[in-house]
Amino acid sequence: MRPLRRGTNLSRVAGFNEAVVIDAVRTAGDGLSRVEISEQTGLSAQTVSNIVRRMLESGLLLEGDRVNQGLGKPRTPLTLHPGGRYAVGVHLDPLVTTIVLVDLRGEVAAHVQRPSPAHADPVEILADIAETVPSLVSGAGVDPELVAGIGLASPGPVDTASGTVLDPPHLRRWRDVPAVAELSARIDLPVVLDKDVVAGVIGERWTGATIGQANSLFLYLSTGIGLGIALDDSILRGSAGNAGDIGHLVVDDNGPACTCGLRGCLGVTLSPGALVERAVAERLLSGTHLDAVRSSDPAQVDTSFAALCALVDAGDRGALALVDGASVQLTKAITTLAGVFDTDVVAIGGPTWLRLADVLLPRLRELVPLGLGRRAGHKPVAVVGTALGESAIAIGAACLVLDREFAPAVSAIALEH
Ligand SMILES: [Zn+2]
Repeated sequence: MRPLRRGTNLSRVAGFNEAVVIDAVRTAGDGLSRVEISEQTGLSAQTVSNIVRRMLESGLLLEGDRVNQGLGKPRTPLTLHPGGRYAVGVHLDPLVTTIVLVDLRGEVAAHVQRPSPAHADPVEILADIAETVPSLVSGAGVDPELVAGIGLASPGPVDTASGTVLDPPHLRRWRDVPAVAELSARIDLPVVLDKDVVAGVIGERWTGATIGQANSLFLYLSTGIGLGIALDDSILRGSAGNAGDIGHLVVDDNGPACTCGLRGCLGVTLSPGALVERAVAERLLSGTHLDAVRSSDPAQVDTSFAALCALVDAGDRGALALVDGASVQLTKAITTLAGVFDTDVVAIGGPTWLRLADVLLPRLRELVPLGLGRRAGHKPVAVVGTALGESAIAIGAACLVLDREFAPAVSAIALEH
């Protein structure tokens, strides 16, 4: 249980207090009464009453039926109104572009996914997204007025301040693309951009595997490997929005050579292409799969990686041993990161994870406690799989918008002063 954010009874920070109330109600699950909100947030009964009234009027909260509780005063639970606001999330990915519409609870109301053509012009892709969003909203029967904005999640590096996708190694042709400006010019909604792993950690906190956890990590295993970081209930973005670059964390001293000059960096050891290369070297897959890896075409690499995963699913001993080796390497990364950030929970997602989770998760749950050893003053570190499946980053991208509007960020106080 995390310590809940405490509110302040100063009227000039009403926006912050509203967010504190939403946060308390959202993470409570089956609702809170006004008295319980007041107890949990430290806000006065009068302040809570005023905020709740405004939020009932604006459709953000729902009031349940009065429940009699013995001799005490009847309790009227308040819950988030899922249809009170919506947000659109877009995941720009080397393989597929995913667009979702989520409600205030982060539940997916509409979803569309299409291949990301390797040679498509980024501006064309953004124009296509701008065309798709209104039909996604109307197709779900949602009033466009209730859509709070669009969150874009891209592989890093990004410049969040200017909304620019800088130079992601795995997203071809995306070089210095002013994604927020391009999208904003085509659609009348606020647009925000963040790195995919930032969206990932926010999505899991809002509606996924780490709801209510103040300290959590989100490890994203895809073409690239990155980390989303939540510390003390705040998202750690870093100076330019690119915190979480863990690709050069060494997990195997004898591993493949990396462009950085070291061997066995996480990014070149556990990427789908690296796993396929290892499978070819161990004669689990034919040499033709090396051509796919060397082509650097994400779709071809994915096909070869799927062939390796099929061997794992079929119980091939060599393939299982290869994945077991990967779980040892992953354990090195997780124990290092959990130690650095003193976190309670590590959630893992991404396409590599989703295909191998059945084999990896039980092993990680054995290995991570062993790797951490006895650590005085530390809590055990839970390893969990994403609760949001293959759309985790897109859902997280939509939650970027919800988080900006409705999470009690300390920066919101500074802004309102
Ligand atoms: Zn490296």
